[in-house]
Amino acid sequence: MDKWLKEVGLGVALALVVLAFRSGFDFSIFLLPISLIALGILVISGRTGMTPRFSLNTLGSNDDSKIPAVTFADIGGQEMAKREFLEALSFLTESSRTRALGIRPLKGVLLTGPPGTGKTLMAKAAANYTGSVFLAASGSQFVQMYAGVGASRVRQIFKQARNMAEREGKSSAIIFIDEIDVLGAKRGKNVSHMEYDQTLNELLTQIDGIRSEHPVQLLVVGATNRSDLLDPALLRPGRFDRIVKVDLPDKAGRLHILKIHAVNKPLEPGVKLEDIAQETAGFSGAHLESLLNEAAIGALRQGRDCISQQDLSEAIEKVMLGEKSHRSLQKEERERVAFHEVGHALLSEHVRPGSVASITIASRSQALGYIRQNPKGDQYLYTRDQLVEAIQICVAGAVSEELIYGQRSTGAVGDIEQATELAKRMVFAGLSPLGIVSTDLSGDILHKTIAQIIREQEESVRSHLQEKLGLIRRVTARLLEEESLTGEVLRALMGAKQVS
Ligand code: ATP
Repeated sequence: MDKWLKEVGLGVALALVVLAFRSGFDFSIFLLPISLIALGILVISGRTGMTPRFSLNTLGSNDDSKIPAVTFADIGGQEMAKREFLEALSFLTESSRTRALGIRPLKGVLLTGPPGTGKTLMAKAAANYTGSVFLAASGSQFVQMYAGVGASRVRQIFKQARNMAEREGKSSAIIFIDEIDVLGAKRGKNVSHMEYDQTLNELLTQIDGIRSEHPVQLLVVGATNRSDLLDPALLRPGRFDRIVKVDLPDKAGRLHILKIHAVNKPLEPGVKLEDIAQETAGFSGAHLESLLNEAAIGALRQGRDCISQQDLSEAIEKVMLGEKSHRSLQKEERERVAFHEVGHALLSEHVRPGSVASITIASRSQALGYIRQNPKGDQYLYTRDQLVEAIQICVAGAVSEELIYGQRSTGAVGDIEQATELAKRMVFAGLSPLGIVSTDLSGDILHKTIAQIIREQEESVRSHLQEKLGLIRRVTARLLEEESLTGEVLRALMGAKQVS
């Protein structure tokens, strides 16, 4: 009806303009004010090309076909986070009891953790679990260069959540704001800070306006990888007063996630997802989902109907390092890469026998070659010796090149960065010759200490590899022949009698 009225109105207005024009009326004096008003309306409603249109994803009961219904059972690992989140949701599921006890409503839950760990899944599962209307937006959608637009969008999403819940006869609504650090960063820190600050102030006002007496209970769920950037006002009690950590999964969590995503994928009998979970320390849920997908693509490419253990192992490398590149290296470069990787591999076996899973000189993405290590399992603490060993493995590639060719190449840039990071960790953990240091240690002293730690480890690696030149050459020759070697083949070569 509304649309019909608008169209008739527009038609009548146009007819009047044409009539007035034909009878000689001068419109030029109205042109400028009319254009300015029209532009203003367009900017505020976000319909110009200058501001992206603000669209929200919704997951109401009628919308399930658009966004798949996610339940907590679809989220692997994260047992602690799920428990804490479910506990926080009880005020929505048992609202009459919480109201009777005079408990003030929980207004905000902040999910923090690295990318791809399942924060969005959690928010969607919460909407399903509580039977709430679900609205999702990203922090960057609120931030515009035009004053007042962000704040009006914040008002809009809160209003829309209440309206949608009322329309659908639901008693609660969840507003999910991804990347909340973009809109909720500490005030006064942004360049165009007035607009950011206004938007954040409006969010705080809206959160404060959530009342338990209102027929529709609102819960704001924010997600961020950088909770340290958030304005303290957002985190104070009464606002985002529940912080749920959604961390990288441990081995059991990874296995659970792999099993969830393998449900619709045929695996060859005997495939051991446990081994894949063991080898993927540091992977997020998103990485693991991608790993299974890549493994399935690998099986498809080879015309097989089932995914093999080999498909899964190759998919680990693909997810870690990217697609195999078709770069063809010159013979000398290929040899240098091989000597470099063999240096890493021999050192790795020296400090931790059995640690090499594979060595390859088939380049992927940015890496010209690489070794993959069997992780020991999830590790959260490192001793000084472990950090030293990790530095030794990092520098061994460059040292091997140096021993063979007399000089190093730029291939070691990534290794040096990694070694520097490890040495820095040693310094700030009080594990360097400096002992315990404060965080405002002078840059000069820090630089000198890091250089000294790395230099000492290079010396030690040099004297070890110097003794193994024959072995380095033999393993490299085999690697150049076969392009990739498994850890078992490497260990067999190392165990052969002619070790020099
Ligand atoms: P970001 O911080 O980048 O927004 P996020 O933490 O919100 O990431 P999600 O969007 O929830 O991550 O997850 C991305 C995808 O990764 C999911 O669609 C799912 O396929 C997979 N995934 C991530 N975590 C899990 C998990 N714990 N269980 C099952 N699948 C997961």
